[in-house]
Amino acid sequence: MRRSLALLPFMLAACGPPGGAGGGAPSGPPPGASLEERARAVHRAAIVVDGHNDITLAIVDQGFDLGRDGTRGRTRTHTDLRRLKAGGLGAVFFAIYVDGRFTPRTPGARSHAYERARAMIAAVQAQTRAHPRSLALATTAADVARLRRSGKVAVLLGLEGGLPIENSLEKLRAFHALGVRYMTLTHWSTTEWADSSGDLEDPAVKHHDGLTDFGREIVREMNRLGMLVDVSHVADRTFFDVLATSRAPVIASHSSVRALADHPRNLTDEMLRALARNGGVAMINFFDGFIDRRKAEVVKHTAERRKQLQALYPKDAARVNREIEAWWASHGFPRTPLATLVDHLEHAVRVAGVDHVGLGSDFDGVPHDMVPEGLDDVAGFPAITLELLRRGHSPEGITKILGGNLLRVLAAAERLAAHPPTPK
Ligand SMILES: [Zn+2]
Repeated sequence: MRRSLALLPFMLAACGPPGGAGGGAPSGPPPGASLEERARAVHRAAIVVDGHNDITLAIVDQGFDLGRDGTRGRTRTHTDLRRLKAGGLGAVFFAIYVDGRFTPRTPGARSHAYERARAMIAAVQAQTRAHPRSLALATTAADVARLRRSGKVAVLLGLEGGLPIENSLEKLRAFHALGVRYMTLTHWSTTEWADSSGDLEDPAVKHHDGLTDFGREIVREMNRLGMLVDVSHVADRTFFDVLATSRAPVIASHSSVRALADHPRNLTDEMLRALARNGGVAMINFFDGFIDRRKAEVVKHTAERRKQLQALYPKDAARVNREIEAWWASHGFPRTPLATLVDHLEHAVRVAGVDHVGLGSDFDGVPHDMVPEGLDDVAGFPAITLELLRRGHSPEGITKILGGNLLRVLAAAERLAAHPPTPK
């Protein structure tokens, strides 16, 4: 059920003093508190939202249980219950990402993407049932605020890549009914209705110069449903087509800044300004291959390199992976410092404004050590708050970046769906 959004506690959290709302902390830090104490109070009072976490893959493919310690054992993860709590997470979008295995490119071959996405959603639901005291599914901004008050982490569903809807508005609606609250229109490959940034150079792929008419229909249907349109991964043309079509604010659930690291997955300043005009939010990705300028150069050439290796070793995928890893290691890159990520946040704030920036970690969707040093897993979120405060950002601004902005946008999409504007 949708509630009156004017009363949402996260709005108070975003405007009031630290400790005043949201996290339920009794009061702010004592007078004369250290920077660390003040940062802890700001973080505790905020509703921290991670826009993109890929732990779902480990849950589905490796039987990982969030109650397990993901720092030990066979499956090493960035995410588990203990570390979600240590990171002060109020809400996390678990990605329902369906990879290419389920959508064969051979004409006439049957897609299993819809079924696979349903199975992934069922696996997330099973995790929330297995850990009812720690986790609960949320579908509205009000749900998130309510769960925060009861000390639970709100789990939201984000569908990554448009393939699971199998070109069907009915299936899109089915995902919304199952609780999916955003859809990233593409992953690394172009769909039949939207260009991806991931294969623009591939002459074998049929591109559409952005969104097709059907792609625009999908965006309008998402607006009608109250499902957020996610522009991470899409080609620049698709991005601008989405912004020209969507009536609701849109999100980039896990995209960094292109001015600081030149990769087509990142947002240009023009895109950041357009997102701000649209009222949306750019949630910055933590992957060091997208935030570190030199690593981004190498990441850009990885697909090409992989293709060459696949031609050399067509039947030996393990060899291809080993060669890629060795090639990476040969660059001798050091870990990327946390400061680099905060540079991306600051740049986005300068260009788009503090009301349009958020966090989208991509934890468990990237290699284990390819995240900033000091932000090694979901327990590391408070380090971002500390660094922003140290650089002079206000508690109010930080609270918006940590999650207030995403919740505002989700609430706006819900409001538009509940009270659609009358067509001209
Ligand atoms: Zn992604």
